Amino acid sequence: MSEQHHTVLIVGGGAAGVSTANNMRRKNSTIDIALVEPSEKHYYQPGFTIVGGGAYTLKKATKNQADIINPSINWIKEYAESFQPDENKVTLKSGDILSYDFLVVCPGLQLDFNKIDGLVETLGKNNVCSNYSVDVVEYTWETLQKIESGNILFTQPPMPIKCAGAPQKIMYLAADRFRKKGISDKTNVEFFNAGPGMFGVPFFAKALTKVIADYGITTNFGHNLVAIDGDAKTATFETSDADGNKSTVTREFDMIHVTQPQSAPDFIKQSPLSNDAGWVDVNQSTLQHTQYSNVFSLGDVSSSPNAKTAAAVRKQVPVVVDNILKLLDNKEVAEGYDGYGSCPLTTSLNTVMLAEFSYGGKVTPSFPFLDPRTNSRLWWIGKLIGFPWLYWQVMIKGIRFDIPHKASYVEKLTKED
Ligand SMILES: Cc1cc2nc3c(=O)[nH]c(=O)nc-3n(C[C@H](O)[C@H](O)[C@H](O)COP(=O)(O)OP(=O)(O)OC[C@H]3O[C@@H](n4cnc5c(N)ncnc54)[C@H](O)[C@@H]3O)c2cc1C
Repeated sequence: MSEQHHTVLIVGGGAAGVSTANNMRRKNSTIDIALVEPSEKHYYQPGFTIVGGGAYTLKKATKNQADIINPSINWIKEYAESFQPDENKVTLKSGDILSYDFLVVCPGLQLDFNKIDGLVETLGKNNVCSNYSVDVVEYTWETLQKIESGNILFTQPPMPIKCAGAPQKIMYLAADRFRKKGISDKTNVEFFNAGPGMFGVPFFAKALTKVIADYGITTNFGHNLVAIDGDAKTATFETSDADGNKSTVTREFDMIHVTQPQSAPDFIKQSPLSNDAGWVDVNQSTLQHTQYSNVFSLGDVSSSPNAKTAAAVRKQVPVVVDNILKLLDNKEVAEGYDGYGSCPLTTSLNTVMLAEFSYGGKVTPSFPFLDPRTNSRLWWIGKLIGFPWLYWQVMIKGIRFDIPHKASYVEKLTKED
């Protein structure tokens, strides 16, 4: 068992961790930074929707961590296991201990497979798919190509989940494939959503209601997937009536795309850093921990009530980096994050509705020239080429690239609604 000290220790080397480490290095060429990340591979998860939809490859969405982490950063290829913030220490799975001056916590969230009975046994077989699991994301496309007819179901669990639009994005790609293949009249596509509506931001929910109606997709709100039998090809949903009485509904499927329920990783829930819901408890504007002033958190694991997206991470990284550098310089932390998140909703195989919003569901686009509810070909090119480029070549490299997002761009449209 060994013990090492680092000035800045980052736990989790996904979108948030690698961007934070590389950006801090650009801001300060000498500061001692260590990054705890067990995986050799780094995934561009926003690409998983189009991998499943057959418009992108997993290869393009994957890079070696060794190629993207600045070599001057001490990469510790290990799992963090527990936190001792009163002693400024993190214990790794190996038993080794790391101490720090500043800690950044960003290990993402966990997929709770066990909340759906039978899912683990059948995922990746029996036409049971999920774009959320890297191991089976390619199976979605494999299955979609085989479908000629039948019941095709798409599920969405209770919030919060990462990229809240992703459960329906793959549904539109599938429905457009069926349309192009001429089998729309032989397929019955249905959306089963544990929540009450199409999207958390009413401005976009309305526009998506039109998209779904255009495809003739049936919606089933308040339906939470609780069990799946892959061999029998049945899915069971829990639903409740107006008085809160629960019952279950079982439906047959020919293909099902499942979005797993999600929560903070167990080792975070069990740590002194978490709030009652399990997320790392931070101030939503400074991203500083509410009790431990030398601890920060960003990305999916943070308690800040934004949409859990890589787009949010892009705006959070400079806030965390600048605040740590300020504290090192004996200055006060500053508020800098307004809850920005973005969800490029793939509404067909050549269009995207670019939903951008901030805390409180305030619509805040980056571009003044287009109604954000437009099903745009431009943003489809963005999804295929522009956004992956922005991820790998800008954000992950630690380069700051801030296009201001403004509510004023849509205030007129919002009032008209
Ligand atoms: C299907 C899908 C579609 C999406 N679409 C979009 C989109 O269109 N636009 C968008 O902006 N976002 C999208 N997202 C969301 C986006 O990918 C995430 O919000 C983003 O990756 C969050 O970054 P993160 O660093 O917090 O977590 P992640 O990128 O998930 O990284 C977490 C890292 O922590 C590591 N880790 C886990 N446990 C430990 C441990 N014990 N010790 C150390 N390290 C650990 C993991 O190995 C991983 O590398 C999508 C996600 C999915 C799955």
